[in-house]
Amino acid sequence: MSTPLDLSVVVPLYNEEESLPYLVEQLTDALRPSGERFELVLVNDGSSDRTAEVLEQLSHNVPELVAVLLRKNYGQTAAMAAGFDVAQGDVIVSLDGDLQNDPADIPMLLAKLREGYDLVSGWRHQRQDAALQRKLPSRIANRLIGRVTGVKLHDYGCSLKAYRREVLSDMRLYGELHRFLPALAFIEGARITEVKVNHRARQFGTSKYGIDRTFRVLMDLLTVWFMKRFLTRPMYVFGFGGLIAMLGSLLASSYLLVVKLMGGDIGNRPLLTLAVVLGLAGIQLFCFGLLGELLIRTYHESQGRPIYRIRETLRGGRAV
Ligand code: UDP
Ligand code: MG
Repeated sequence: MSTPLDLSVVVPLYNEEESLPYLVEQLTDALRPSGERFELVLVNDGSSDRTAEVLEQLSHNVPELVAVLLRKNYGQTAAMAAGFDVAQGDVIVSLDGDLQNDPADIPMLLAKLREGYDLVSGWRHQRQDAALQRKLPSRIANRLIGRVTGVKLHDYGCSLKAYRREVLSDMRLYGELHRFLPALAFIEGARITEVKVNHRARQFGTSKYGIDRTFRVLMDLLTVWFMKRFLTRPMYVFGFGGLIAMLGSLLASSYLLVVKLMGGDIGNRPLLTLAVVLGLAGIQLFCFGLLGELLIRTYHESQGRPIYRIRETLRGGRAV
C-alpha cells in the first residue's frame, strides 16, 4: 500500500482529558501552515477519565484526527506501538499528550530529518521536572544506556522524536522499550541525531509513573543489552564461555595427569574438583549456545503476536 500522507503524529493518552483539546489545537496550529498532509493519530490507552469521549468529540471537528481507542490500559509503549501501526505517514513523529512537549518544535525535527537522518530525538535541555526524583535518575540512566548501547544521546526519555517510517516498520515494542527506540534502530543501522527542544511543566493531571518505572527501565536496558549481544548469535556468547571453561578444565586435568604420571596422588585435590566442574560447565554452556541458536530462530519466526488490541479506529469521526 502506498502511503498518501507526509506525516503522522502519534500520541499516547492515558487520562489526559484536560490537555487533549489544547494538544490538538497546538498540533494543528503547528502543522497546518506547512502545507504538509498530516494526520494526528491519538491513542487512548484505556483511560478511566473522559479522554475517550473528548477524543471522539474532537474527531468530528478535526479532519486530520485519527482516534485509536484501545480496549484497556496497555502502557505507554504499547499505546505508541498501536499508533505506529495505524499511522500512514512517510514520517512519524511521537510526543506526549500532556503538553510537556511543545508541538511547535515539530517542524524543527522534520527539518533535521530531511538533512538525511532516520531518527531525530528531542533533547530536553531545560527539563521541567523534579530534580531529585526525575532528573537525576534519568541522567544516570542516559549515561548507562549510552554506554551499553553505543548510542550517545543526552535524553533517551524524551518522547518527542521524529522517525522515517522504515525505522519503525519491523520494530517489536513492549515493556518500556519505546525509550530505547534510538538504540534499537541504531542496532539496525539507522542514522540518529538529537536536537534541543522545549520542555514545559505539566499543566493538568499528574505524571502516570512512579519510582517503579526506573526499575522497569533498568530491566529493559538489560534486555536491550541481551538483544544486542545475544539475540543475533547466542553461540557467540555461550559457545565462547563454554570453550573458555573447557580450556580451563583441560589445563587443570593436564596438570593433574602430569602429577599422576610422576607418581603423585591426585585423589583428593581441590584442583580435581575444579577440573570436573569446569568440564561439565563448559559442555553445558556450549549446549546452551546450541539451544539458544534454535530458540532465537523460533523467536524471530514467531513475532506475529500483537501486544495490543484495538477496539475501534475512527477517521474523521467515523469507524473504519
Ligand atoms: N501514557 C499512556 N499509558 C500509560 C501511561 C502514560 O499512554 O499507561 C501516556 C501519557 O498520557 C502521556 C505519556 O504517556 O502522554 C507520558 O506519560 P507521563 O506524562 O505520565 O510521563 P512523564 O512525563 O512523567 O515521564
Ligand atoms: Mg509528562
